[in-house]
Amino acid sequence: MATEKNYNLLLTVKNINPVCPICSNRYNLSNIRILKEIKGGVLSFFSCDVCGSSFIASVSETPFGHIAKGMLVELDENEVLKYVRSESVSYDNVLDLHQEMEDSKIWLKKIMKDNNLQN
Ligand SMILES: [Zn+2]
Repeated sequence: MATEKNYNLLLTVKNINPVCPICSNRYNLSNIRILKEIKGGVLSFFSCDVCGSSFIASVSETPFGHIAKGMLVELDENEVLKYVRSESVSYDNVLDLHQEMEDSKIWLKKIMKDNNLQN
């Protein structure tokens, strides 16, 4: 994924000169991985050479300049990739989960009633 756009976004990250939020070590820029292209930018992964903490950041190009947003994660690069490549949760998934929880609640109440247990 070495397009010119991604290269420019990496230069932006370099200009930000990111530091680890845990130990303040400057990230080794050669360790920054581009995981995925996202709308208007890239999703990147950083890991700290000193403390080993991991950080993911989205860097986007907007009409007003570059915007970087990130967060610490307790995942390695492969684990992050697993979630990045997985399907999004749909409205139907949420409704199915809600229905299953309702069914479980009914089932649990029946077991408690059958066994003379109070909740
Ligand atoms: Zn660190």
